[in-house]
Amino acid sequence: MKKITFNRPYITGNEIQYLNKVLGSTKIAGNGKYTKKCQSYFVNKYGFKKALLTTSCTDALEMCAILANISSGDEVIMPSYTFVSTANAFLLRGAKIKFVDSREDHPGMNEDTIEANITDKTKAIVVVHYAGVAVDMDKVMSLANKYDLLVIEDAAQAIDSYYKDTPLGSIGHLSSFSFHETKNIISGEGGLLAINDGEFTQRSEIIWEKGTNRSAFFRGEVDKYGWVDIGSSFLPSELIASFLYAQLEQLVVIQSQRKKIWTQYFEFLKTLKNKVQLPNIPEYATNNAHMFYFVCSSIEERTALLSHLKEKNIYAVFHYQSLHKSEFFRNNNHKKLMPLSDRYSDCLVRLPFYIGLTDDEINYVAESVLEFYK
Ligand SMILES: *Cc1c(COP(=O)(O)O)cnc(C)c1O
Repeated sequence: MKKITFNRPYITGNEIQYLNKVLGSTKIAGNGKYTKKCQSYFVNKYGFKKALLTTSCTDALEMCAILANISSGDEVIMPSYTFVSTANAFLLRGAKIKFVDSREDHPGMNEDTIEANITDKTKAIVVVHYAGVAVDMDKVMSLANKYDLLVIEDAAQAIDSYYKDTPLGSIGHLSSFSFHETKNIISGEGGLLAINDGEFTQRSEIIWEKGTNRSAFFRGEVDKYGWVDIGSSFLPSELIASFLYAQLEQLVVIQSQRKKIWTQYFEFLKTLKNKVQLPNIPEYATNNAHMFYFVCSSIEERTALLSHLKEKNIYAVFHYQSLHKSEFFRNNNHKKLMPLSDRYSDCLVRLPFYIGLTDDEINYVAESVLEFYK
């Protein structure tokens, strides 16, 4: 079998046509026609109050931290088992990060351990919908109401996924999505800030446009444009937006193809249920087929499995070292143990997953995993 890579970006075919339209126009900077088309798409489909394209999910998270007015000494609660950007965005504003552990049945954060971490310095809870599977948002939102906290959804992996029929990213006050080439919907690099609380709509646009009221000026709402707040250059060019729009037009197709691959893997591997921890989708969540993962019983087992697969020319991967144990964070006086986050760091495996994997390749990958466990 020829090499099976971990990821391959899926191109719908219309990207080049829309890129050409932008190249033939007089506007290739940001906030043009395709940016507006993408933003309207998200608002209409997922019910966000406002949507702003960003150059990455990392950028959208940084915007969340600015909008939340995070300043030195404020505490922000988030899972340890996540990507570095979830934490960096808030650290950059001076926050103190309070990590919580994962769930026994899922790498996502254990909602029942959040409340014990809330103090009078807590400003926000950042939830991460790992693998696109929803955190129990009723639990999180009721804590937020009780203690008057902001909820930010890191929905980087969670496009087109739902919590009790409500789209992820539309529940928290603010949310971020990623269109990095490893996600379901891509634009190379790219992201989205979703704003669900009207308190943030006006300021979000200013922060997005380098701290100026440029957007309001172009709508004719103010008669001159100037520097009114802090901000940065968070908006992507029309080249990125046009690429993204081609992807969005195919979202339904992309999602159904990914779900088909996911289900094929699951059907093959469910016989391993007494040997590995298979993905668990709680009844309140949907599966957006962002990834196919399972959890080995030890790091030694995982290392052996990955090298077995590599010998068969299959490139499976793992990810996320618990952030509380990272080289950067571990001197931060962090004393709490996070055994579950550590277990996912040591034992989780992600199988090759992309549109274009053939039935033969999926069979071959699954058979190779089964052979290892025989
Ligand atoms: C991919 C990812 C990010 C970062 O997304 P970028 O668009 O690359 O900045 C942040 N958080 C999580 C959970 C992710 O999976």
